[in-house]
Amino acid sequence: MEGKVRTRFAPSPTGYMHVGNLRTALYAYLVAKKDGGTFILRIEDTDQQRKVEGAEDIIYNTLRQCGLRWDEGPDIGGPVGPYVQSERMGMFIDYAKQLVESGHAYYCFCDKDRLEQMKTIQKASGQPTRYDGHCRNLSKEEVEARLAAGEPYVIRQKMPLEGTTTFHDEIFGDITVENSTLDDQVLIKRDGMPTYNFANVVDDHLMGITHVIRGNEYLSSTPKYNLLYQAFGWEIPVYIHCPPVMKNATEKLSKRNGDASFEDLVAKGYLKDAVLNYIALLGWNPKGEEEIFTLDELVREFSPEDISKSPAIFDSQKLRYINAEY
Ligand code: GLU
Ligand code: ZN
Repeated sequence: MEGKVRTRFAPSPTGYMHVGNLRTALYAYLVAKKDGGTFILRIEDTDQQRKVEGAEDIIYNTLRQCGLRWDEGPDIGGPVGPYVQSERMGMFIDYAKQLVESGHAYYCFCDKDRLEQMKTIQKASGQPTRYDGHCRNLSKEEVEARLAAGEPYVIRQKMPLEGTTTFHDEIFGDITVENSTLDDQVLIKRDGMPTYNFANVVDDHLMGITHVIRGNEYLSSTPKYNLLYQAFGWEIPVYIHCPPVMKNATEKLSKRNGDASFEDLVAKGYLKDAVLNYIALLGWNPKGEEEIFTLDELVREFSPEDISKSPAIFDSQKLRYINAEY
């Protein structure tokens, strides 16, 4: 890949920021800075219903306090603001129309009742609930007539019916799925706005992201994302999916419950730098014996190849140890 590394932290403002979220931000920052590259912050707030009041400020404050400064915003030169998806919603529909033109997406006019009925039948017969392709093959004339009549529509991705899609993840290796298992997901909703998945892919491309670093809950969506990249003819980024940070053997940390948030740990008297150092070590094993690192040292030492595949458990004893050493 040519040019410098560009990474992003793309949080949805749906709750607190726990150490797992912060770790994703830190790893994205380290991967970029190791290469002298660019670290971007993008607030993914397409889903206004899931938005939690104050969550955006928590993200800004936490990143600033940790020294994870983002490099770019819409107003470069002025105060460097982050990208906020809800402020750039209008342009996504043109990208979806481009896919319709090239045969990788289609207009779907199915109403709620039809979709409900379809799901009920699929569930009753033990099938996975997936769009049944009812509108996949409408003629161009029919589509144009229905659009001209002002019928409401969504735009769906046209998944290949046969074959497989394979992608490579730096941590989990090669992953292959059968295309027939992929749902013709909605790209543009009835109100003309993009779905979360579509905005995510288009923005990663427009922002020139070379390395996508995020939680491994997105592994299963990645084949769909890759098919979008291919449909557009865009270069696929390097993927680094990180396993979750757990509260204990069975429970993940949760944004909604405010588990292990950075603010909480600092309020409890832990040093900011020690918390960041501890977070870096959650799931990443440095090569040498040394465990105490400043942020600059982390930039030098960090190697995404050494991120562990297994979930990490948040361990306050280790945090206390690092805090004492700091
Ligand atoms: N917005 C997603 C989240 O907060 C992250 C998606 C991504 O990094 O691609 O979980
Ligand atoms: Zn339809």
